[in-house]
Amino acid sequence: MINLKINHIPVTVPEGTTILEAARIANVEIPTLCYLKDVACVGSCRMCLVEATGARGLVAACVYPVAEGMEVLTNTAKCRKSRKLTLELMLSKHKKKCLSCERNNNCELQRLSVEYGAEEDHFGSDEPIHPLDDSNPCVVRDNDKCINCMRCVAACRKQHVGAIGPIDRGFLVHVGSAGEVALKESSCVGCGQCIVACPVGALTVKSNIGEVQAALENPEKKVVFFTAPSVRATLGEAFGLPVGTNVEGKMVAAIRRLGNCEVFNMDVTADLTIMEEAAELVNRIQTGGVLPMFTSCCPGWVRFIEQTHPDMIPHLSTCKSPQEMFGALLKTYYCEKNGIDPKNLFVVSVIPCTAKKYECKRPEMGGEVDVAITTRELARMIKTAGIKFCDLADEEFDNPFATCSGGGTIFGATGGVMEAALRVAAKTLDGKFEVVDFPEVRGATPIKEATYKVAGKTIRVAVASGLENAEEVIRGIQSGERHYDFVEIMACPGGCVNGGGQPSLPDSVRNNVNLKEERAKALYTSDKHNKIRLSSESPVMDAVYGEYFGSPNSHRAHQVLHTHYKADPRV
Ligand code: SF4
Ligand code: SF4
Ligand code: SF4
Repeated sequence: MINLKINHIPVTVPEGTTILEAARIANVEIPTLCYLKDVACVGSCRMCLVEATGARGLVAACVYPVAEGMEVLTNTAKCRKSRKLTLELMLSKHKKKCLSCERNNNCELQRLSVEYGAEEDHFGSDEPIHPLDDSNPCVVRDNDKCINCMRCVAACRKQHVGAIGPIDRGFLVHVGSAGEVALKESSCVGCGQCIVACPVGALTVKSNIGEVQAALENPEKKVVFFTAPSVRATLGEAFGLPVGTNVEGKMVAAIRRLGNCEVFNMDVTADLTIMEEAAELVNRIQTGGVLPMFTSCCPGWVRFIEQTHPDMIPHLSTCKSPQEMFGALLKTYYCEKNGIDPKNLFVVSVIPCTAKKYECKRPEMGGEVDVAITTRELARMIKTAGIKFCDLADEEFDNPFATCSGGGTIFGATGGVMEAALRVAAKTLDGKFEVVDFPEVRGATPIKEATYKVAGKTIRVAVASGLENAEEVIRGIQSGERHYDFVEIMACPGGCVNGGGQPSLPDSVRNNVNLKEERAKALYTSDKHNKIRLSSESPVMDAVYGEYFGSPNSHRAHQVLHTHYKADPRV
């Protein structure tokens, strides 16, 4: 252990700890821009410069290790002057369109500039030089707002995609894709991890708010919303509520106040996905089909497989994602039941995910979801409509798609799909199987493995989140080192609770709060309190199968709820 003092406060930390980590233990905040816990640590932005005994000049706290007896000062005139200068240099080439910027009042550059009294025009201002890249259905890049912190590049590399990187040298350096192709032409899978890593407004989601507002004002359209499991666990953050607050009731009430619409629960089609996926797994096990079977509910992961490992496509479950199952269910079963012309039904999916914007435009999906908006976009719509979110009384989802099982709700966290599928598959294979909790597959550990004995069969499973970990699992399977029957993969580390469409929280929160864990807790608590834990025991499943599909994996279920994939030669 190493003893040192930070701003005269004694602190003892393990050898190898950086000054930044030690400062956090001593409750001293040092400003950062390029550093992001678990994602990026390169010491390039120079915001975290501090004075430390034994060092020559100022040192970058995020990469400089502590030493025995070291005295660190983080708030001297020299530190403040250096940080102010750094900020003014960044501002000299930053497009200052703060008033209309999506990150206004939630921008790390803006906050630090105010704190350090940085002048935006101290070094003059450059004219915009980079064209806006809005070619991608998920992400919009405005390089004139970029401060070259490279957090997005680190996030994308961590996703084992590497669609973006630094281009050019010196003052001309900027972020782009290889060959300067538009993001749409790159290997981007649309996960949005770069957006939530960005400290400024240089990366934003491609907004579909205008289309939703137009539909709400169109008397010829019947508008229905459905909200994904994890949105209720994060939407409150956009209104200042603590991380991990479940705001399901307020969310439903707020959406109803946006206009004439119905609000359904996407956990219902998470249950439907499980019914189909569990039946597909049991069928593959019993008939010697392709194993391991991979989950297919994450479009970022599906696109990664199509681009990077097309030979593994037969392993993907043919089930559509819960979003696309809901779109298909609404435009068939629901429209038929209610005498609605599907052309007049406008379906809005509210999701934690940027990749689902791309998914609903895939030709195989037939345009059954008209528009997908992220948690951030929903929050913006609620604010624009002047709705006092925190004062709303709880309301319930509309029938017939209100009631779900706990298994449907935990879809939003890594391991949730696996656990929900195991509950149903185990019951199907062994009618007496009573276990509903599978704690081995819970939590944000990058790769989880477990083996279960069901009806005399051994079922080997793996769960991975983050495409870096998915790649490790795939390589293990291909090399014969890993053997599984069923594998759940979510592109975003921690699953959808940490999706690219979730509220942007500043690094001061992201570096100190375990977002994945806190948000997931809200979903597991809801599951625990739900009287229905198995998807197969939901009354809504009885209705849709009884009235429409017959049984899981029936011919009609295949026509409406399943899809196919194709190799994408982009990579
Ligand atoms: S959306 Fe995901 S894959 Fe695309 S550039 Fe961003 S981090 Fe990379
Ligand atoms: S786009 Fe954002 S995250 Fe990427 S380098 Fe620029 S400022 Fe940093
Ligand atoms: S993990 Fe969830 S939020 Fe992330 S890309 Fe997949 S479906 Fe979207």
